[in-house]
Amino acid sequence: MSRNANRIILLGGPGAGKGTVAMTLVDRFALQHLSTGDMLRAAVAAGTELGKTANGFMSHGALVPDDVMVGLIQERVQQADCRLADGTPRFLLDGFPRTMPQADALDRHGLGPDVVVYLVVKDEILVRRLTGRRSCPKCGNPHHVEFAPPLHEGLCDRCGTALVHRVDDQEAAIRKRIDLFHSQTDPLVQRYAPLLVTIDGEQSQERVARSVIEGLRALEATGS
Ligand SMILES: [Zn+2]
Repeated sequence: MSRNANRIILLGGPGAGKGTVAMTLVDRFALQHLSTGDMLRAAVAAGTELGKTANGFMSHGALVPDDVMVGLIQERVQQADCRLADGTPRFLLDGFPRTMPQADALDRHGLGPDVVVYLVVKDEILVRRLTGRRSCPKCGNPHHVEFAPPLHEGLCDRCGTALVHRVDDQEAAIRKRIDLFHSQTDPLVQRYAPLLVTIDGEQSQERVARSVIEGLRALEATGS
């Protein structure tokens, strides 16, 4: 029996390359990409009940409670672009769940995943990728000291402004984010073990994309 891959969750640390994987899944498997940040902004802009509730928390600098977030997801997946012709929900969820209580909330609403794509990258590589970022304070053009070095050291290729190493991109802040990712998400990896498609995120972007396609095709063909 083959396994459906209609509801997919994407897990991976900061800097693991989730964007590449999401793009591949959207392009090749016709999944609707649901990012929690986008859904929040859309609901607030549209002034829906849940949008107003969420905005009430955010305007006080508070986190949006898990059940409000799941409510937003549930509203979004009612829409036709997140459904197959027979009504089966079909979507890629990115940025949620990050914690066990969020995964519980998703299950309670009947939106638990069929497949969990887990992008694995060693911490030291994540640190290298993230601490090497240099941004232009004037035009926002991104650079990387190792992977996309500026033509003239320390200066923006586009506008010549001196590049900055943002506090968010400095090692202490990066390590904190990575530690938080492990403490919250490692238990999710255990929980979803039977549903995992593990991808080596240290490969080139092209290979990551190919691994994702092969991983899902194998699953849909042979099941598990
Ligand atoms: Zn610039």
